[in-house]
Amino acid sequence: MIADASHDRGRFARPFDVCVVGSGPAGITLARRLAAAGATVALMEAGGLAFTPASQAIYEGETRGLDYFPLDMPRLRYFGGTSNHWAGWCRALDAIDFEAKPFNPLSGWPIAQIDLDPYRAEADAILDLPSATEAPDLALAQSGHTFHRIQFRWSPPTRFGPKYGEEIARSPRIHLVLNANLHALDLAPDGTAVTGARFRTLAPGDPGFAITARHYCLAAGGIENARLLLNFPTADGHAIGNRHDLVGRCFAEHPHFVLADLLLVDPPPGLDFYSPTAAFVAEHAVLNFGLRIEPARREPDPLASLARTPCDADFTLARRALEACAPRPMHRTPTPGTLRIAQEQAVNPASRVSLGDARDALGLRRAVLDWRLDDLDIHTMRTAAMAMATHLAEQNLGRARLRDWLLAEPARLPGLDADEVAGKHHMGTTRMAADPRHGVTDADARVHGLDNLHIAGSSLFSTSGHANPTYTIVQLALRLGDHLAARLAA
Ligand SMILES: Cc1cc2nc3c(=O)[nH]c(=O)nc-3n(C[C@H](O)[C@H](O)[C@H](O)COP(=O)(O)OP(=O)(O)OC[C@H]3O[C@@H](n4cnc5c(N)ncnc54)[C@H](O)[C@@H]3O)c2cc1C
Repeated sequence: MIADASHDRGRFARPFDVCVVGSGPAGITLARRLAAAGATVALMEAGGLAFTPASQAIYEGETRGLDYFPLDMPRLRYFGGTSNHWAGWCRALDAIDFEAKPFNPLSGWPIAQIDLDPYRAEADAILDLPSATEAPDLALAQSGHTFHRIQFRWSPPTRFGPKYGEEIARSPRIHLVLNANLHALDLAPDGTAVTGARFRTLAPGDPGFAITARHYCLAAGGIENARLLLNFPTADGHAIGNRHDLVGRCFAEHPHFVLADLLLVDPPPGLDFYSPTAAFVAEHAVLNFGLRIEPARREPDPLASLARTPCDADFTLARRALEACAPRPMHRTPTPGTLRIAQEQAVNPASRVSLGDARDALGLRRAVLDWRLDDLDIHTMRTAAMAMATHLAEQNLGRARLRDWLLAEPARLPGLDADEVAGKHHMGTTRMAADPRHGVTDADARVHGLDNLHIAGSSLFSTSGHANPTYTIVQLALRLGDHLAARLAA
């Protein structure tokens, strides 16, 4: 059923099995899974059924560090959450994404790919993906074992509000409460359990109301899950879940940059995707990445004359790649393209969400995002670009010229005026780790030290991989639903 916190408060003045905060892909998936298992769920959504500037304004914040989008731009604050404008790219994380890498301190998940595999079929159905199996790798001629040629799948994209609104309205178990902004969590005197969640509307002077449940779950998005926890103090002076000063740290994006301009003999009709083999990752100590060969949207000026020259003699390959392969003539007139990376980000505690002094309409401190990349991120970009330049030359498929900013020492990352910069994916801020000194949540997505507070969404990601996050968010939410249902039954 659907209620509005502005006037229906009597309808949800009762204890629930689970209180889920946020109705994006994570919250709706979790609520549906729990309801299917017989649990009663209060699904609390800050916004209404449609966009309003007043709700969206709560997402305003400050950015420091690397150039990044204004914080109220890459997420949406109403029913269905950011799925109201996501693009639908889907891919599961690779098995190696879950493994600890010695060159990436703190990396590794407390779960493995096989723990999420059982949820693939259902995630496919939820996201309306075209086939029930992950699109397989494609054949690739190469001299070594450097790349997989990989595929993504595309959701229509599924808008969770329109798709699941009617089902939720009819559900006797899910109570969707709109215009309900979480602004406080009450803790038991010993601080080990949540006893109530407090909400209010944006109406000035609203005294608000509390929801009580056996379990609570934050599903408010990768920046907001951390901002909310940081805003909620505990008796011992820490924020909730922040005994080890980890909430908001290890913020990861998927850096998106054009690394090289290409001349392609046989340009792909659309996008071609490549990712490294596990052997390449280990040998070169790089993060996981996805490389996209894109036909040029417009002819880059420095390449214009080269593109009209059928011979590559004057076209400079990226330094070492040139030495590795004697230039051979290209057989056909090449056409221009670009090489873009979308990559995993190193686990970096200095890259973080914290709180600023400014306050939102609810009195909570606003988010400050300090997004940082480190040497491992740059090393990954350079290694990936060089490997692809070498591959193109070896196979005589084309030639690559690495962008000057990447070859500069230190690298000069482009800002938003020059490139996409990032995928608008917010990960890692309540990362999972078996050891509370390394992560905010455990392998069951439970906040360390609290018996009944869980997290859903990409803030759980221990490392980000290179795949877009929503597929994994849905898998994790299904898994959390099963876990909570089992705990409720016990
Ligand atoms: C332009 C764009 C394109 C994208 N394209 C892709 C793509 O192609 N593939 C992909 O995998 N991902 C993509 N993403 C990312 C994707 O949208 C997110 O991964 C996904 O929406 C996250 O789901 P979520 O439920 O965790 O958070 P959200 O969808 O952000 O939902 C959070 C919910 O919590 C609510 N909320 C927030 N604060 C409170 C509060 N205090 N009280 C109550 N409720 C609250 C919000 O209103 C919202 O409904 C894209 C993102 C953007 C911006």
